[in-house]
Amino acid sequence: MTAYPNTQLLIDGVWRDGSEGRTINVVDPSNGEVIGAVAHASRADLDAALAAVQKGFEIWRDVGAFDRSKLMRKAAELLRERAGEIAPILTMEQGKPLAEAKGEVLAAADVIDWFAEEARRTYGQIIPARTAGVTQMAIKLPVGPAAAFTPWNFPINQVVRKLSAAVAAGCSIIVKAPEETPASPAALLKAFVDAGIPAGVVNLVYGVPSEISEYLIPHPVIRKISFTGSTPIGKHLAALAGQHMKRATMELGGHAPAIVFDDADVAQAAKVLGGSKFRNAGQVCVSPTRFLVQDNAYDQFLDGLVDYAKSIRVGSGMEADSQMGPLANDRRIPALEELIADAVQQGAEVKTGGRRIGNKGNFFEPTIIANAPKSARIMNEEPFGPVAIVNRFSTLDEAIDEANRLPFGLASYAFTRSAETSQALGLRIDAGMTTINHLGLALPEVPFGGVRDSGYGTEGGSEAIEAYLVTKFVTQLTA
Ligand code: NAD
Repeated sequence: MTAYPNTQLLIDGVWRDGSEGRTINVVDPSNGEVIGAVAHASRADLDAALAAVQKGFEIWRDVGAFDRSKLMRKAAELLRERAGEIAPILTMEQGKPLAEAKGEVLAAADVIDWFAEEARRTYGQIIPARTAGVTQMAIKLPVGPAAAFTPWNFPINQVVRKLSAAVAAGCSIIVKAPEETPASPAALLKAFVDAGIPAGVVNLVYGVPSEISEYLIPHPVIRKISFTGSTPIGKHLAALAGQHMKRATMELGGHAPAIVFDDADVAQAAKVLGGSKFRNAGQVCVSPTRFLVQDNAYDQFLDGLVDYAKSIRVGSGMEADSQMGPLANDRRIPALEELIADAVQQGAEVKTGGRRIGNKGNFFEPTIIANAPKSARIMNEEPFGPVAIVNRFSTLDEAIDEANRLPFGLASYAFTRSAETSQALGLRIDAGMTTINHLGLALPEVPFGGVRDSGYGTEGGSEAIEAYLVTKFVTQLTA
């Protein structure tokens, strides 16, 4: 069995402990035991990382796109080769089943490959000039050293989109990865180091998130911020970035509507949406949460989803037959219990689940709640756990109004056989992403991002690299 490694900082190409020797414990969420430790960066370490990322940028921006691309492909290949070793580490620190963990590592390799190709397509423009002998060029240049702040739900994938886009564009980066799940993101950066990336281009730090973000974001070396996490923290960091005129990408919370119409394949909808709801124990920003089901499909869908939830085998992610692991941290348990109690108090019914499982590890029952009123907290706050709310609707307008009622606008889902309904949903749901009759989100080549309180910017598709590029205008009169 793989031993869980302690995690060091990566600064200027060197793996090292924090200069003050401080560490933070890492806990296995399936049993609450301390399994290792991660180095805690001091202010001196952050200063060293800032010096390194500046130096790394000056080297990397001059490396040709073709060579950047080649190196990235090598990193992707190393990650694929190591997927079998990295997956158990990810599971031990985060809890998700091994198959999901391995899928995350392999998906990360695909993200790197996608951005490796995009590196070679950062085209500018030649703009026709008014005067003979003048050449007007809009060229794309890397924005500069970036700082990325990422959460614990997808320890590798939340880093890889930011890291790959930055490195592809010719930027260097300091990643502040999650202290709760530090070893798997370290394995990702190690693939870049082992592929031969110059020292200082990719750096990794851990510590107190607010202390690190409040030091790095205003720092003049840092030119670009990317954050994934909750909306309140995102607003705080976006304000800080704005105050210091730093570019920012914000991938924040969601509360995704999943709309099932009478004319849908209802059994298929329950199966597909159930699979999506309980993946990663519901700790996913695009997790379907408010299920809105049209009157005639309601009973069949609810029964189908309840059966699906009851069939899920919950257990340690390290056990081969587990389909859902524990919640990644123990603070999610009271958070979910409070949301469910409030909904019940306001008249909702718990159709299955609703409780913690046992008293060791952060296991929680796959939960379905029916008929929660709009006033219930769970109808307004992101549960970020294995809880689905199933409510009724009658008309398309009613469903769209409910979908758009909250300030979030990240993912949305629908099942219908009507082309007309599909078209209306695509145009009228105020969200960054709508997937109809299947799960088609989060591939490297398609846009991934939100609107309104879910943030701004995209971390996928051909626009994603733009966040790390500036357009520079150069005009030249041939002498
Ligand atoms: P949180 O808001 O305390 O933290 C979320 C993430 O942001 C963590 O990784 C944390 O380390 C980081 N963070 C917190 N304060 C920061 C700061 N000042 N500067 C930089 N980084 C900071 O919440 P939590 O208890 O970890 O998770 C709860 C909520 O966060 C969830 O309910 C969910 O809404 C949201 N969340 C969203 C995502 C996502 O993928 N969008 C991922 C994890 C958590």
